[in-house]
Amino acid sequence: MQNKSIAELAADLRLRRYSSLELTRHYLERIERLDARLNSYITVDAEGALAAAERADEALRRDAAGPLTGIPIAHKDIFCTAGLRTTCASRMLENFTAPYDATVVERLAAAGAVVLGKTNMDEFAMGSSNETSHFGPVRNPWDAARVPGGSSGGSAAAVAARLCAAATGTDTGGSIRQPAAFCGITGIKPTYGRCSRWGMIAFASSLDQAGVMARSAADAACLLDEMAGFDRRDSTSAEVPVPDYVDSLDDDLHGLRIGLPKEYFGEGLDPGVARSVEAAIREYEQLGATIKDISLPNSPLSVPVYYVVAPAECSSNLARFDGVRYGHRCEHPASLEDLYTRSRAEGFGAEVRRRIMIGTYVLSAGYYDAYYLKAQKIRQLIAQDFRRAFEEVDVILGPTSPTTAFALGAKLDDPVAMYLNDIYTIATNLAGLPGMSIPIEPVAGLPVGLQLIGNYFQEARLLNVAHRFQHATHWHQAAPAGFE
Ligand code: GLN
Repeated sequence: MQNKSIAELAADLRLRRYSSLELTRHYLERIERLDARLNSYITVDAEGALAAAERADEALRRDAAGPLTGIPIAHKDIFCTAGLRTTCASRMLENFTAPYDATVVERLAAAGAVVLGKTNMDEFAMGSSNETSHFGPVRNPWDAARVPGGSSGGSAAAVAARLCAAATGTDTGGSIRQPAAFCGITGIKPTYGRCSRWGMIAFASSLDQAGVMARSAADAACLLDEMAGFDRRDSTSAEVPVPDYVDSLDDDLHGLRIGLPKEYFGEGLDPGVARSVEAAIREYEQLGATIKDISLPNSPLSVPVYYVVAPAECSSNLARFDGVRYGHRCEHPASLEDLYTRSRAEGFGAEVRRRIMIGTYVLSAGYYDAYYLKAQKIRQLIAQDFRRAFEEVDVILGPTSPTTAFALGAKLDDPVAMYLNDIYTIATNLAGLPGMSIPIEPVAGLPVGLQLIGNYFQEARLLNVAHRFQHATHWHQAAPAGFE
C-alpha cells in the first residue's frame, strides 16, 4: 500500500479494497517499526489519526468523500494543529498546543486527509540539515550516516521512507527543495502568497511559503489543489484564482523553452550532480523542449542578501517568545529582565540565537541603511534578473543543491559552509517565485534533485513539466533499502 500513488489510494478506498482505518493502521505500524532509525516524527498522533480514519470511512460509505478522504499525511511541526502539540522543534515550544489549526491544516482536513503526526525539522526552520532540532537530528533513509537536508528534513525522510503518503513543508530559502533533493522525493514551493501563512509559525515573513513534499508531481498536485488559495487571515495571501493542478499534468512539452542559468553550473557544483542534471536536460530535449543558456547575474549575491533579510525578520518575529505569554519560562526569575533573558537563552538553540543576534544588529540604528536597506535593494535586482529571464524562457532548470546529502556533523561547526547549501534555492524565495525539486539519476547511491523554477503563479506549469519527466523516467519510484 505504501508504494501506491495518492490517486491509486483514493481509488482503492472508494472501491473498498481496504478501509482508511486499515491504511492508517498500516502507516502507524510502519512508523512504530521503522522511525526509530530516522527520527522523522516529533509527535505521532495514533489516536487522532484512527479517529479521523473512522470518520473518513464513514464519509466514503455515505459517498460524501472529498479528494483526499482517508489519505494519511503528516504536517511539518511548524503548522499549528488544534489540540495536537506544535513545537517548531524548539525547547521554547516543547509543550505548546495551539488553540487553532493553520489554514493549510484546516483545508487538508476539510478535503478528508488523515493526519498521522508532526514531523521533525530544524529549530524554527533555521537550517539545512535538520541537525538544529531540539528533538535530535533526522537521518537520511538512503544512508543513516547522512543528513536528510533541512529544514523540512522530517517530512522529506518520512515521505521517502513511506511513513506517510505525503507531507507538508515550508520553504524560506530552500527548506522544501533541498531536503526533497537529499531524500529523493518531489517537493514544491509555490509562489509567495499562494498558500496561506496563517497558523504557520513565522521565521522570515517576506520569504516563508508552505508547500508539499510527495513522491511524485502528481501526488503533490493532489495536495496543492486543496492547500492553495486566498485566505483573508493572511495579509500577504494572493487573491489569484487557483487552477486545477491535476488537470494540466499531462500537457505536452513540445515547444517548452527551458533556460539554464550559467551561474548554477559553475564552481562548487559536484561533477556527479552536474552529470546527472545534464542527463535530465537531455531527457527534456527528448520530450520536445528547447534549451537556452541564460544568466542571472545577481544570483551570487543571494546568500549574503538572504542572511541579512532572513535574520532581520526572524529577530522581529521571534521577539514574541518572551517567556510571558507562551513558550518556555525560566525558573525563579529575579526580575522582568532576567525573565526575558533567561527564558530566551534557555528556550532557543545556538543557531536561532545566532540569527536573532545578527538580525538585531542589522536592524539597529546606524546599521539599518548599510545592511538591511542595501540587502532589500539587491533583492530587487535579483527579482529583476528572473523577470528578464522569463521574457525568453518558460522554466529555469538547474541543480537543487551543489552536492548530495552530506554526513551528519560535517558542517555543524561551520555555519557559512552550511549556508552555502542553499546557493541555488535562495534566489527563488527572494524573488517570490515558485520552485520545485524532482529526483533524477542518483550519484553513488544517493539521490540528486533537479530544480525547476517557474514564473509567478505558474505552479501548474511546473507540476506539468515535472510530471512529464516522471512519466518518462523511473527515478522517483526508487525506495531506500529497508523502507520498500
Ligand atoms: N537553510 C536556510 C536557512 O537556514 C533555509 C531554511 C528554510 O527554507 N526554512 O535559513
